[in-house]
Amino acid sequence: MIISEIIKLIKESDNIIILSHTAPDGDSLGSSLALYNSITSIGKEAEIVIDDEVPVIYRFLKSADKISCVDTIDKFDLVIVLDSSEIARIGKSSKYLTGKNIINIDHHISNTNFGTLNMVRPNAAATAEIVYQIIKKMNIKIDKEIAQCLYVGIVTDTGKFQYNNTTFETHQIASELLKYGVDSAEIFRLIYQNITKAKIKLIGHAINYMEFYCDEKISVIVLTKEQFYKSGAKDEDTEGIIDFARDINTVELALLFRESKDGNIKISFRSKDNINVNLFAGEFGGGGHKSAAGATVSGDILTVKKNVIDKAFGLFR
Ligand code: AMP
Ligand code: MN
Ligand code: MN
Repeated sequence: MIISEIIKLIKESDNIIILSHTAPDGDSLGSSLALYNSITSIGKEAEIVIDDEVPVIYRFLKSADKISCVDTIDKFDLVIVLDSSEIARIGKSSKYLTGKNIINIDHHISNTNFGTLNMVRPNAAATAEIVYQIIKKMNIKIDKEIAQCLYVGIVTDTGKFQYNNTTFETHQIASELLKYGVDSAEIFRLIYQNITKAKIKLIGHAINYMEFYCDEKISVIVLTKEQFYKSGAKDEDTEGIIDFARDINTVELALLFRESKDGNIKISFRSKDNINVNLFAGEFGGGGHKSAAGATVSGDILTVKKNVIDKAFGLFR
C-alpha cells in the first residue's frame, strides 16, 4: 500500500523538506504545518519552504513563524510536496526537487503524479484529510495544535463544509479533530471574522463593478493593481471574493481576474453543478477541481479577460 511506503520513506529519512504551492491557502498551510509538527515531534529534522508570504489570518497556526522562503541550505534527503497538482505550482522552491526522493500528497484531480511516491486522492476534500490518515497510521500523538492545522485545511477547502467535496469522512475527521481539543468557534473567528478594512474596500469595488454575460449565467470580477493600491488590500485579500460572484442565483460560472504582484494575471474559476472548471482552466494552462480551479497567464488583463469570456460562451452552447 502506498501509505505504508510513504511512512517507511519518512521513517528512513532524517532531513525532510516540505513544499507546497505559491499563494498559500488554508489547506496548503494547514497540511504542511500538521505534517511538520508531527514529524518533528518524533525527532525528524524538517523545514517548510514556501516562496510566498503566509497570509496574516493563518499565522496563529503552530510553527507558521518557522516557514521560510526559498533560500535555505539544501541538506535534504526527502522532499514532501503537499496540495500541489504539478511542479510548476511550487514556484521557485521546485529547485529543491532535483535528485531527491519525492513524496507527492494531494487531492487535485489534475495532479500529474510527479513524485517518486504519489498519494493523490481526488475524493479527499482537502490534502489535510490525507495528512491526517498518514500521521494517524504513524501513531503520532495528535495534540491540539496539530489538530488545529488539519481542521483549518478542511474548513477552508470545503468552504466551511458547504461544497460537494464534503463527505461523511470529512465530517468524521473533523469530529475527531474536535476531540483532540480544537475549538471550532475559535477557528472560525480567527479566519472568517478577522478581515481588514482594506479587504472590505476591495470587496466593495468587486461587487460594485461586477460584470455579467450570457443571460447573467457568467459573472466577472476584475481587480487591477490600481484597485489594490486604492484599497490598500494585499494579494492574499482576494481569497473568497469570487464567492460573491458565484453565489448569485442566475450564475453558473464565476470568473475573477487579478493583476498579481509578479505581473502575471491570475484567473480564478468557480462553478455550481454542471460546468467542469478543472477542464476549462486547463485550456489556459491551469487546473484544480471540478467546481474550483485557477490558472496563471501572462498578458494584459483586459485582453486575457476577453479571451476567457469568449471561450466561456462556448460552455453554454
Ligand atoms: P484559487 O482560485 O486560487 O482559489 O484556486 C482554486 C483551485 O484551483 C485550487 O484548488 C488551486 O489549487 C487551483 N489552482 C489555482 N491556481 C492554479 C494554477 N495557476 N494552476 C493550476 N491550478 C491552480
Ligand atoms: Mn490549496
Ligand atoms: Mn487543497
